[in-house]
Amino acid sequence: MFASQVKNKKIAIIESNAKIGQKIKISGGAKCNITNENVSFKNYLGDKEFVKNSLDFFSNKDLLNFLNKNGVYPKVNPKIVKGTYFCNSSQDVIDMFTKLTSHTKKFLNTKVIDVKYDKGFLVNTSKGLIKAKNLVVASGGLSYVSVGASPIAYEIAKEFGHEVTPTKPALVGFTVQKEQFWFKKLSGISCEVDIKLDEKKFNGKLLFAHKGCSGPAVLNASLYWQKGKITIDFMPKKKLEPLLKGNKNISTALPLPKRFMQEFLDSIELKDKPVSKLSSEEKDKLKTIKNYEFSPAGTFGYTKAEVTSGGIDISSIDKNSFESKHQEKLYFLGECLEPTGELGGYNFQLYFSQAYLCANNFK
Ligand SMILES: Cc1cc2nc3c(=O)[nH]c(=O)nc-3n(C[C@H](O)[C@H](O)[C@H](O)COP(=O)(O)OP(=O)(O)OC[C@H]3O[C@@H](n4cnc5c(N)ncnc54)[C@H](O)[C@@H]3O)c2cc1C
Repeated sequence: MFASQVKNKKIAIIESNAKIGQKIKISGGAKCNITNENVSFKNYLGDKEFVKNSLDFFSNKDLLNFLNKNGVYPKVNPKIVKGTYFCNSSQDVIDMFTKLTSHTKKFLNTKVIDVKYDKGFLVNTSKGLIKAKNLVVASGGLSYVSVGASPIAYEIAKEFGHEVTPTKPALVGFTVQKEQFWFKKLSGISCEVDIKLDEKKFNGKLLFAHKGCSGPAVLNASLYWQKGKITIDFMPKKKLEPLLKGNKNISTALPLPKRFMQEFLDSIELKDKPVSKLSSEEKDKLKTIKNYEFSPAGTFGYTKAEVTSGGIDISSIDKNSFESKHQEKLYFLGECLEPTGELGGYNFQLYFSQAYLCANNFK
């Protein structure tokens, strides 16, 4: 996005992959979930003012106008997360940016190794030295090494005196402790849940997986999870009490997959029996279906994480120009910076907003 907006300078794009935009390519199941109807600074982990400033300058409507003007027409598809805009194909976005950056020189299959400064930037790459007056670092986070992720942004930032806050895999599944090993037996089954942690609550699908659990609600929870307990309501649209009348067995009376019910009841050591025969103590046990607390063991890690949370401390980055406050003419954009968005097109929206704002203030 940045390179597409700066036409009055000689620009070189350095990319370790053979093609640009490979994260875009695999995003949103190859349909790039590019923005959301309901974008707000509240959908991001990180400095609210820093995020809001970019979103105010280049909003979701601005991004959609920009895309439409350039022949890309995303449509709302709320199947996974409310308000999400998906493209017809991710390739449309890559083709658009390829066209819009035809004025740039592209160094592909070229890996940046390190950067020094001596009256200009000396970018040491796998294909030799590249000199530049200005340097914009937008090399992303640590997720998905298979499509080119590397820690180079953090290394360059540290070289020029920036702090990097601890990074962690985010928008990723949770692994589970022994007490939740029953999740693994349900691999492949999904159900709608509410997940609560601290002040946040996410509604959406939870997918039981071989390693633990995944799915949109879990991915969102992982962004805010530090360590410690999360609470799951496995029946967010129903109250329990009215379902406990009649002679049906628990596993039939509750509107949840039978296999799930069997494993859940085993895990709370409750026999499947007619709901009318439940003692008040047994009813209390069953109430955990709306209030199931557990501490994830960890996450599936950077190989499966859609994003990396944490990153370059934004207090030493100008919120309008994205220039480093330590080094003139050095800029940082995108996922390598601290703020990270929830699932649903929030990340592309913020990073395109940042790049657009940066380009508009570029001297
Ligand atoms: C599977 C998956 C699906 C996703 N789906 C969505 C979605 O639908 N919607 C959404 O909003 N977000 C989605 N995301 C997140 C989104 O893709 C990222 O947040 C976003 O691409 C970050 O943009 P960026 O420009 O900062 O970095 P990137 O898009 O990661 O681009 C950085 C580029 O720098 C290159 N690079 C890195 N190190 C070097 C080096 N040393 N030398 C040279 N080049 C280097 C990389 O190859 C890469 O091409 C998804 C992520 C994944 C992994």
